[in-house]
Amino acid sequence: MQFIYAKFIPLKQHHSLVYAPPLAGIILIVYCCILTFAYANETDLNHKIIIAHRGASGYLPEHTLASKTLAYEMGSDYLEQDVVLSKDSVPIVLHDIHLDAVTNVRDVYSDRARKDGKFYAIDFDLHELQQLIVTGRKSRAATYSYSDRFPKNSHQFRITTLEEEIQMIQGLNKSTGGVVGLYTEIKSPAWHKTQGYDLTTIVLDTLGQYGYRNAADNIFIQCFDPAELKRIRLELNSKLKLVQLIGENAWNEADTDYNVMRTPEGLKDIARYANGIGPSIDHILSSRFGKITVTELVNEAHNLNLLVHPYTLRKDSLPNFVSGFNELIELLFEQAGVDGVFTDFPDLAVQFKKQSNL
Ligand code: CA
Repeated sequence: MQFIYAKFIPLKQHHSLVYAPPLAGIILIVYCCILTFAYANETDLNHKIIIAHRGASGYLPEHTLASKTLAYEMGSDYLEQDVVLSKDSVPIVLHDIHLDAVTNVRDVYSDRARKDGKFYAIDFDLHELQQLIVTGRKSRAATYSYSDRFPKNSHQFRITTLEEEIQMIQGLNKSTGGVVGLYTEIKSPAWHKTQGYDLTTIVLDTLGQYGYRNAADNIFIQCFDPAELKRIRLELNSKLKLVQLIGENAWNEADTDYNVMRTPEGLKDIARYANGIGPSIDHILSSRFGKITVTELVNEAHNLNLLVHPYTLRKDSLPNFVSGFNELIELLFEQAGVDGVFTDFPDLAVQFKKQSNL
């Protein structure tokens, strides 16, 4: 996005030079506006973005301020926030609606689990949540091991609110002159509604208070739930850029058929309310008998002017058909032509972009 802003400046300077007769001035202004839009479209498509997935989560516990600060310093274009609510309606940055996988909640509030044995963030007010220690993700899936990441027994990290994170990003943008954006995910909005909470309006209000209201603002809103994204665009009339995340039906992320969503008809429907899609890498690259194939998804999305930002590049959890991080990102950027990537290792992605002059 910084290129768009850079190109805005000389165009605005031209406006101040208009002292010719009014008609010529109007023509010049219209011409400048057309140029501005042309540049905006062109740079949006050509500027490949690096989205720090839960921060630099390959190096520090996900969604901690430390992880976000490191991702900022590494040159990320956008920092990702997953957002859920506390009992007192404060938007907090947490990947799951449960606290179990990344905090010591079981030790601190042992009698506060629900009947399913899980500890829900929404059952705790902000003060209670702030007592918890955040650690690296402890997954029960044996195949999903991040044994080389930051040690899980550290004690210095706490849960962050959305406001705290915005203040950190905007503060760093001011002190460094950077233009790093937000990439905010509304987590399980339908589930929040069953609990009596409207997560989306609370998040949009908070973002609005910090100046994120328009399409040109440096933010994407992402969600797995198409009904909620349609509501954001068509009922709440938000102008922010929206990205439809595409998952697998087995995940039960939302009441929708993701297989249909990936068809040309499904993409056409997405183009009515969103600016882009966030598919899984598996939806773009596949491998059969040792031969890697690029699916039609990116081309079909681009035909509808939808941006494509796949998730998630991890050097310690690569697809079996590539030998390294660079091979995967090269396939995505240069073979498939995606517009950006989510990664736990933003430094590696930034380095690849620089080497490849992207
Ligand atoms: Ca996310």
